[in-house]
Amino acid sequence: MAIRKIREMGDEVLTKVCKPVDKLTLRTRILIGDMLDTMYEAGGVGLAAPQVGILKRIVVIDVGEGPIVLINPEIVETAGEQTGDEGCLSLPGKSGVVTRPNYVKVKALDEDMNEIELEGEELLARAFCHEIDHLDGHMYVEKVEGGLHDTIMEEE
Ligand code: ZN
Repeated sequence: MAIRKIREMGDEVLTKVCKPVDKLTLRTRILIGDMLDTMYEAGGVGLAAPQVGILKRIVVIDVGEGPIVLINPEIVETAGEQTGDEGCLSLPGKSGVVTRPNYVKVKALDEDMNEIELEGEELLARAFCHEIDHLDGHMYVEKVEGGLHDTIMEEE
């Protein structure tokens, strides 16, 4: 397990469409472990493989309820709406207001390549949308309403 370098906006790798994972190699397992380490180290709630320079359809998420690993995720259902601040580890220190569905159902493969379906509301729904967007080369800044602002860090 290791911390990988997080690519920042402007890096071409963040604009590419990622390839589906067809089998889980040792290399991919190591990547997933590293992505979790990198996300926790950076204090994020989600990380997509292209953010560490790998064009594979893998995301990791933890909104405070334990780690979620999604391989080849797809959004299969959405409902409602939420509008709130969003940030990204590839654009440190900035955030902006984005409207997302308030409920999102995702179909994916887990770390053993078993099919899973997960439902999320509020922050988890937002994280599903944000991270899956990365797999198609999209950043949240494309959806920001009213421009970006500096994130106020809560210290102490
Ligand atoms: Zn992001």
